[in-house]
Amino acid sequence: MSASDLQTPIEYLKGVGPNRAALLRSELGIKTYQDLLHHFPHRYIDKTKYYTISELVKSSAEVQIVGKIVHLKSVPMKRGSRLVATFADETGKMELVWFRGHKYLQENLKLNAPYVIFGKVNFYSGIFSMPHPELELLSEHEQNIRVAMQPVYPSTEKLAKANITNRIISKLVQQIFMQSGKNFAETLSPSLLSQLALIDRGTAMFTIHFPESPQLLAKAQYRLKFEELFFIQLQLIHKNLLHKAKIKGFVFNTVGEQFNEFYSKHLPFDLTNAQKHVLKEIRHNMGTGAQMNRLLQGDVGSGKTIVALMTMLIAIDNGYQACLMAPTEILAIQHYQGISELLEPMDIKVALLTGSTKTAERRILHEGLRDGSVHILLGTHALIEDTVQFKNLGLAIIDEQHRFGVAQRSKLWKKNSLPPHVLVMTATPIPRTLAMTLYGDLDVSVIDELPPGRKAIKTVHRYDSNRLKVFKFMRDEIQKGRQIYVVYPLIQESATLDYKDLMDGYESVAREFPAPEFQISIVHGQMKPADKEYEMNRFVKGETHIMVATTVIEVGVNVPNASVMVIESAERFGLSQLHQLRGRVGRGADQSYCILMTGSKLGNDSKTRMQTMTSTNDGFEIAEVDLKLRGPGDLMGTQQSGILQLKVADLIRDNDLLNIARSYAQELLKKDPNLSQSDNLPIARAFAKMMKHKSLWNYIS
Ligand code: ADP
Ligand code: MG
Repeated sequence: MSASDLQTPIEYLKGVGPNRAALLRSELGIKTYQDLLHHFPHRYIDKTKYYTISELVKSSAEVQIVGKIVHLKSVPMKRGSRLVATFADETGKMELVWFRGHKYLQENLKLNAPYVIFGKVNFYSGIFSMPHPELELLSEHEQNIRVAMQPVYPSTEKLAKANITNRIISKLVQQIFMQSGKNFAETLSPSLLSQLALIDRGTAMFTIHFPESPQLLAKAQYRLKFEELFFIQLQLIHKNLLHKAKIKGFVFNTVGEQFNEFYSKHLPFDLTNAQKHVLKEIRHNMGTGAQMNRLLQGDVGSGKTIVALMTMLIAIDNGYQACLMAPTEILAIQHYQGISELLEPMDIKVALLTGSTKTAERRILHEGLRDGSVHILLGTHALIEDTVQFKNLGLAIIDEQHRFGVAQRSKLWKKNSLPPHVLVMTATPIPRTLAMTLYGDLDVSVIDELPPGRKAIKTVHRYDSNRLKVFKFMRDEIQKGRQIYVVYPLIQESATLDYKDLMDGYESVAREFPAPEFQISIVHGQMKPADKEYEMNRFVKGETHIMVATTVIEVGVNVPNASVMVIESAERFGLSQLHQLRGRVGRGADQSYCILMTGSKLGNDSKTRMQTMTSTNDGFEIAEVDLKLRGPGDLMGTQQSGILQLKVADLIRDNDLLNIARSYAQELLKKDPNLSQSDNLPIARAFAKMMKHKSLWNYIS
């Protein structure tokens, strides 16, 4: 099919006309032949089977029957009327029912002519009926392209009302093929087609609309999915290569005094192999002269902080400053305390900047940043304010990236002649290729190993009715010298309700664990930062036994002696949040526990979440379930990216194929960077078109 053919406006297709064209455009965004061809079915119905009326059972779903309309009548209802046809075959009778479109039907339905009907059957007071059946004269039915599996197209209410049924859409698609044939320009190279045993593009396009068997359909889907993912990867990798060639960065080629001193004298433990590996990747990346833009994924507790710190030391060794931005003040303070302590014996100046840093302090701090005497700045959002100016910021690290938008990230870049190297750390892991696809501009490093000696956290699910047993368990743990978190959900929209929940919870915990024997800390979003810090510190120092909190503790705090995490109303948390919270315990040598408290009535998704949490500690596994439950659309910063509006492939379900597509795209660009080999001509053409349209999807001719 020639490209110009497919750009033909849809109203020129036989059977469309201006009215239908307008509806197709407004409802489905279909403007051209090509758009219609890319309106793929979302499921298929087996149409090889014809039922007889006697074969129908109460649980029958969608069925196809051949018979005749023997009688037609209008039955009055409270409002309006319904049209009821008696439909018969040799084995029995049933009813067809319409609530609209009577006039047309009464004028056009032929009594006693053989029809093929299709639809969902209902069983009501002893009789089978089919509301709004698809209906076709047997003689016409026999002339259509024979399809074993009837495609079902995504549609809308308005289209249904305008009588643009599934069958009509299917006929229009058929019309395009009849008019133009199925000789589509190939977009893949002969070698790719043969290596992956892919069917040609025209056959695939035809088959996805009119599959002759499930096997052929699978082949068509595989081919089209591969193509879709392959071109996404091709574009991403291409863009990435350009980016690397273009965006220059500081060259950090010395691993010097500070790094080495810290590594040999002050590192309190041996790095895990994963930490070493990741550090090597980062070092290499910062040494090349291109700007680093890297995502560091690592499960909670995998030890990202030390990697961040050592990366900052590399910056300092090369004569630059570094900053680390945390999503909450508590976290920023924790990083400050932890990092200051680790660097205590060294000659490095570390500073903290948050929203509550006093003006006078700020002035001194600004001065130190400008003259370069402050080497490391830790803080919150406050450090991207315009008043903060560095002498030479060489590295920006962002902790728990899901709290920061892309815009904020790039704000950090504006402060330099060259953009600083950027390391984004996240404990919400997603499969690597998926991450690279969603965050196309980032390289990805993964810490896939926990420090040694960690005991797996035991997770249980308990109903509210078992609360007394849970209290007893908590008391036993406190007796053993452990500390406990009790966490309540936080819903931004109803801060007052959350506050009440939290206070009710606090009171019941306080009643159960009375002073002076027991000490309780409380932290929530409505407290002043200073009060939060005070309460937090009492818990960190071990002065209090229980920390009652909203999710402000969700990310990052580190209290190794805390061994029990009780999560109240656990059904109100998402999986990744639950996993983050659980990650607050299990940091010391003791056996740790996570107790998920819920009401007794749980929806299916909530049940799946509880089961997932009790059955695994693996953040990657949890992330995958989470993605399946929520869909990837929820992932930070990706909602508007458009990258998720795939036509055939699914980034989650087709993750394996995504990996395959990426490696083929990589190999291709390595061997033929300009796509100039004759074998790759089809790819080059499709790719050029795609770049021209600045869209990942409009590349198809
Ligand atoms: P996260 O990746 O969740 O930010 P942290 O960096 O807070 O994890 O590390 C969790 C805990 O593990 C900290 O107490 C840290 O000191 C400790 N830790 C990190 N790396 C190692 C290691 N290689 N060996 C032993 N303990 C480590
Ligand atoms: Mg952390």
